[in-house]
Amino acid sequence: MNDKLKKQLEKKIRVIPNFPKKGILFQDITSITDDQKLFKKVITKLKEYSIKNDITKIAGIEARGFIFGSAAAIQSNLPFIPIRKKGKLPGKIYKQKYKLEYGIDEIEVHKNAANKKDKILIIDDLIATGGTAVAAANLMRKFNPQEIQFHFIINLYNLNGMKKLQTRFKSSSFLNCLG
Ligand code: AMP
Repeated sequence: MNDKLKKQLEKKIRVIPNFPKKGILFQDITSITDDQKLFKKVITKLKEYSIKNDITKIAGIEARGFIFGSAAAIQSNLPFIPIRKKGKLPGKIYKQKYKLEYGIDEIEVHKNAANKKDKILIIDDLIATGGTAVAAANLMRKFNPQEIQFHFIINLYNLNGMKKLQTRFKSSSFLNCLG
């Protein structure tokens, strides 16, 4: 995203205190999707990026990554890979566990969704602590792709998720994060 669009998004995002539980400042992306001009600008940027960087597949993390990821995939004329929560995909799957604040979660992807020739752009609405993104990167690595890139519509900078992602994969040339 360019700085102008980033500022527009920061201004537009609706922040709801104490949802879904006390202490969370929930960033509600429906205030972006409600505005079709702004939503289209975001998707157009993702499309331009995908084309410029020879992305071959776009993946979205359930659930809000599906909103931006699938729209970007259609606009870019690329296949869409759903990265789903545990137990939702009927075919043969790769899985990746990750830690939550309390307990463990798991994300899954179909084994035939990508291959080693792919350059995959993973999209999610938001990066906070980076736990979900690290798990998604580890899941996509199972395809041994040429490259994995990330795009988040919102970056909660103070939670250092992007730093965690970059540190974890510092030696991997394939990983690139966009703000
Ligand atoms: P994390 O793994 O901590 O980076 O959290 C990222 C995931 O949790 C994303 O899929 C977000 O949709 C969701 N998430 C985390 N924190 C928030 C927040 N404050 N507002 C909205 N969604 C959030």
